[in-house]
Amino acid sequence: MPALLETEIGDLVLHARGKVRDLYSVGEFLLLVATDRISAFDHVLATGIPGKGKVLTQISLFWFDFLKDIVPNHLVTADVGEYPEELRAYDDELRDRSMLVKRAQMFPVECVVRGYLSGSGWKDYQATGAVCGIPLPSGLRESDKLPEPIFTPATKSLHGKHDENISFDQMIALVGAKTAQALRHLSLAIYQKASDHAESCGLILADTKFEFGTTAEGIILADEVLTPDSSRFWPRGQYAPGGAQPSFDKQFVRDYLESICWNKQAPAPGLPDDVVKKTQEKYLQAYELLTGKSLSL
Ligand code: ATP
Ligand code: MG
Repeated sequence: MPALLETEIGDLVLHARGKVRDLYSVGEFLLLVATDRISAFDHVLATGIPGKGKVLTQISLFWFDFLKDIVPNHLVTADVGEYPEELRAYDDELRDRSMLVKRAQMFPVECVVRGYLSGSGWKDYQATGAVCGIPLPSGLRESDKLPEPIFTPATKSLHGKHDENISFDQMIALVGAKTAQALRHLSLAIYQKASDHAESCGLILADTKFEFGTTAEGIILADEVLTPDSSRFWPRGQYAPGGAQPSFDKQFVRDYLESICWNKQAPAPGLPDDVVKKTQEKYLQAYELLTGKSLSL
């Protein structure tokens, strides 16, 4: 099966193309189609990972259901049989990798929760002893578990730019105090329930990013949720704080890109077959570990 890098769905109006998803307007709803695009170092690579979009969609669906008692979500249906008539001709392209969702007014904030010190959190901590203004004990090492999970919002980046960590006060300035508090509360509750589940599957949920939006019904969880693209999962058995942990899904990609000394500028290179294959296996493994089910692509 070749990788699906870009979709074109009949006469549908393309609402937006993200790094990974193509979004279409379908009446009052949006159709989110997860392609097989993969990004690394803020660039979409020339090669996709066949079936990756299906894995991401299926993992998100698992979590939306798992979390529905904590937070409502944007899902209308992911069953192509229930899609509007005009989409039926695209069954093959849409099956398993798409969702019809409620169109939400997205909050301009990435809701990040960190249970461990990694990535931009580790950088912040080294520079300031705090993450997003939240002071932490001294002497923590990279990848150490935090005394308790922390909420560390970031601004949503414009295309190709890095997200930027912000303080809770800056978040309040963007969305208001009541919404900021509600989003922090929801994010921490979701992280707690999801990390307990991940732990029982042999995975550490080091950190993750949620995107919320609002509809007439109030705040809903939107976008993708708790996938390897939006979260750092680490295999529990290999956890060794004091340095970076191997990325569960993209380690082969990163190792390869470092090995060819790419300057991290466009155009992004492609990947050799063995790196594609090993990466595909990691995404599938994440699905299998988290859901206890297998997926054939
Ligand atoms: P990255 O995730 O790598 O930062 P990205 O967020 O630009 O890239 P994608 O994940 O590919 O892009 O596309 C998803 C886009 O759809 C995001 O901009 C997200 O905010 C938006 N989105 C998700 N769910 C909804 C929804 N229910 N209503 C409106 N917009 C949504
Ligand atoms: Mg996204």
